[in-house]
Amino acid sequence: MSLKGGVVMGVWLCGGRVKRRSHVPELTAERRQVIEDRANRFLVEQGVVGVPVDIKSLVKKLDFRVKELDFRDNRTTGMIAVNENEWIENTDTHRLIAVGKQLGHERSRFIIAHELGHYLLHKTQEQPLFARRDTDTNRSDEPEAELFGRAILMPKDKMEEAVRYFKSNERAQKAFSSISKFIGALFDVTEKKALVRLEELCLLG
Ligand SMILES: [Zn+2]
Repeated sequence: MSLKGGVVMGVWLCGGRVKRRSHVPELTAERRQVIEDRANRFLVEQGVVGVPVDIKSLVKKLDFRVKELDFRDNRTTGMIAVNENEWIENTDTHRLIAVGKQLGHERSRFIIAHELGHYLLHKTQEQPLFARRDTDTNRSDEPEAELFGRAILMPKDKMEEAVRYFKSNERAQKAFSSISKFIGALFDVTEKKALVRLEELCLLG
């Protein structure tokens, strides 16, 4: 599998053609590939075949507790804490993923996928892990967890299949006014995330 796109000067290129101002975070093509491969490998390991991916069950299989929290600070939408040596503060678990209470269903799903990305990409052996997700953070591992979240909830092969179906099916086109709405409904993600994924896989237009 290879990714056709890349960010140059804030513009996302597909096969050399400028598509639009990019919403896709800048990561090297090599790193993007590593993250896409890790997400796919995880889905295969877990025996996931269909969509929408039941992300909550997947993290529970890894012994994560998923909690809704009322983050006082409005900018925090989720967090992950892993400490194999002791319980996470105020809990009786070693592995916790928390999502903001006020978030809707699709956004909560995405945050769980994002936090799983930190666990699979950034957890170093034996070291406790702690990360919180702010809405406008630019720490370097945030774009990586974001890409992982998109890749695991919207796998590339499934996206290509869905786009082919939408383009050849008038009923689907009538039922959903845009391809991003169709992808959002099919993969159980927000339309905004669907659009970024369509863009980074060069599936728009
Ligand atoms: Zn994060």
